[in-house]
Amino acid sequence: MCDCDKVVLSNLNRQVIHSSKDLGKKKAESAKEKLERLNPNCKIIAVCEKITGENAAGIFAECDAIVDCLDNLETRKTLNKLAIERKIPLFHAAVEGLEGRVAIVVPNFSSRPGSAARPRAPQVPNSTSCLECIYGSAEGAKGEFPILGSVAGAVGAMLATEVFKFFALGGKPHGELLVYDAKQQKTTIIRTRKRPNCAACGHKKAKSLLAPRAGRFKK
Ligand SMILES: [Zn+2]
Repeated sequence: MCDCDKVVLSNLNRQVIHSSKDLGKKKAESAKEKLERLNPNCKIIAVCEKITGENAAGIFAECDAIVDCLDNLETRKTLNKLAIERKIPLFHAAVEGLEGRVAIVVPNFSSRPGSAARPRAPQVPNSTSCLECIYGSAEGAKGEFPILGSVAGAVGAMLATEVFKFFALGGKPHGELLVYDAKQQKTTIIRTRKRPNCAACGHKKAKSLLAPRAGRFKK
């Protein structure tokens, strides 16, 4: 679990893992504490760092999936690129105001190197569109923006369900973006397509995040 921020009062309307007693604590450590209290058999590593193009490969070196609960598109694009290079799935969710989005990026699993000793996700024959394919040159919301806490809860539950389906029930993503509009009480599924010239998954790939000696994150 990776988060560089500390718990502040304005988080508490939606980040329900924290409470007023946690104000000022590092978020990753506060969340680890609650989850380990809920289930002492879970082993959680709290990483209190800002994810960047330089450290992302090290932080996620031992991960079989990335679950994106971020608040900015720039870091999402970094993780999108890393997920494609590592051939691990990226589960994406975003919320702004009364709208939420969920998508799953699955690079081709069958060619993933070095995965034999780890729990295997279901084989997915084709890679889906990635976040660069979906969002292109969009810059995303800047600065502070409003989020209704209950919408974050609803979208977070959808995201958690997708992770569970993928690993436990053999769910097969089809390259779709789910848009939940709480104002209209409407859910729309948008089919997304891979872009051949995508900077992350297309022919014109950007510089790799995987440095030659990108090591395992030090615990
Ligand atoms: Zn792409």
